[in-house]
Amino acid sequence: MAALKVFFHGRAWPLAAGMAVAGVVALLFGPLALALVIGLTIAAVIFLGQPETSPASARPEDPQPLSPLVRGVIEQLPAPVLLLDESKRVILVNSAMRPLVGADAEGRHVSAVLRNPAVLTAIDQTADDGEPATVQFTLPVPIERHYEAYVVRVGDNPPATVLMLHDLTAIRRSEQMRADFIANASHELRTPLAAVSGFIDTLRGHAKDDEVAREKFLGIMSVESARMRRLIDDLLSLTRIEMNEHVPPYKRIQLDQVVREAAAALSPLTRNDRITLEISTPPNLPPVIGDRDELVQLFQNLIHNAIKYGREAGHIWISCGQTADDQIFATVKDDGEGIASSAVPRLTERFYRVDVKRSREKGGTGLGLAIVKHIISRHQGRLQIESRLGEGSSFTVLLPPAPSENDTKN
Ligand code: ADP
Repeated sequence: MAALKVFFHGRAWPLAAGMAVAGVVALLFGPLALALVIGLTIAAVIFLGQPETSPASARPEDPQPLSPLVRGVIEQLPAPVLLLDESKRVILVNSAMRPLVGADAEGRHVSAVLRNPAVLTAIDQTADDGEPATVQFTLPVPIERHYEAYVVRVGDNPPATVLMLHDLTAIRRSEQMRADFIANASHELRTPLAAVSGFIDTLRGHAKDDEVAREKFLGIMSVESARMRRLIDDLLSLTRIEMNEHVPPYKRIQLDQVVREAAAALSPLTRNDRITLEISTPPNLPPVIGDRDELVQLFQNLIHNAIKYGREAGHIWISCGQTADDQIFATVKDDGEGIASSAVPRLTERFYRVDVKRSREKGGTGLGLAIVKHIISRHQGRLQIESRLGEGSSFTVLLPPAPSENDTKN
């Protein structure tokens, strides 16, 4: 209570009100509107958080003193904030801004601590005409980061200028990923589509009456259209799983049964390649909480990969169990070509393949492990990949055990 009294006495209510509005605005209108509200909140805190001074003691040429409370609040803001006096000297840098301008920025002219011409121009303009300004810029080193700078003038006797940054790096990265994804998906579809339309033209033209060529081309067209269908199916699966990712599954599932079901569906392929598939599961394996269809798809993808990249007449071992820390696991292990350790961290990226040609020959889309990753993430599990070139690979899925039925009833 006492702390609350101090809080209100220090007139931090504009901060509280501003932050509440910021939250609602962020939800409704997104990050730019949030940045504006935080900026205005800082302005309000600076004005209203000042200890009252008698007109006789206030000297207009002095920068307005900042109370410890206001300093503390600005220091803790997650957005980088910098405050300048009328002569554009830094009077305050908060902890988020310090890595960008250096620990000794206070007291120096802004042009000595910030080198970006666009930001400096925005500061000059706002300091002169009082109009808030927004400018985007990029810091190339040490890691490329994108920012939006928001500049606003506060107070008038004398005025101060606030510079606040909004980190756009994550948004830019996700925009880039989305653009890459669309480019990759279009490229993957364009290749089989070009083959199919090319053969249609050939069959209409010079191969019109050539029965042998017709059979051959129809065979290729059928393979290529199957490739397009698989790609579209995988793209749709990925979208559906991503859309559901934040909805936790709720059914109690026996992982050993799921694994058997997935393996049974692929038995024609193992027979074709004369692969021996062994499944070992302990009796009374505790259940997990899961979505049955998604878990079957997950293990079909892993087993299918073990077949595709395994040896002809090779082995696949599937084993289930419980780890020392109670996680339920299922491992799919093959004795195939293996994966170079440098490639392992990238395997679950969309469209990443170690050997694109080989994946295509085997009917791969490059999306199987990305789907696996999203299903595991929805189930709050983990994926462990162990592999050595030439010695095979093992993919282990670890899922938390379902809570006991008594716990769920309480
Ligand atoms: P794809 O459709 O190409 O199989 P995935 O996302 O399922 O796509 O797998 C990505 C890549 O990981 C594959 O192209 C392959 O290079 C590699 N890979 C996956 N599983 C195995 C495995 N069991 N053995 C060797 N390489 C594998």
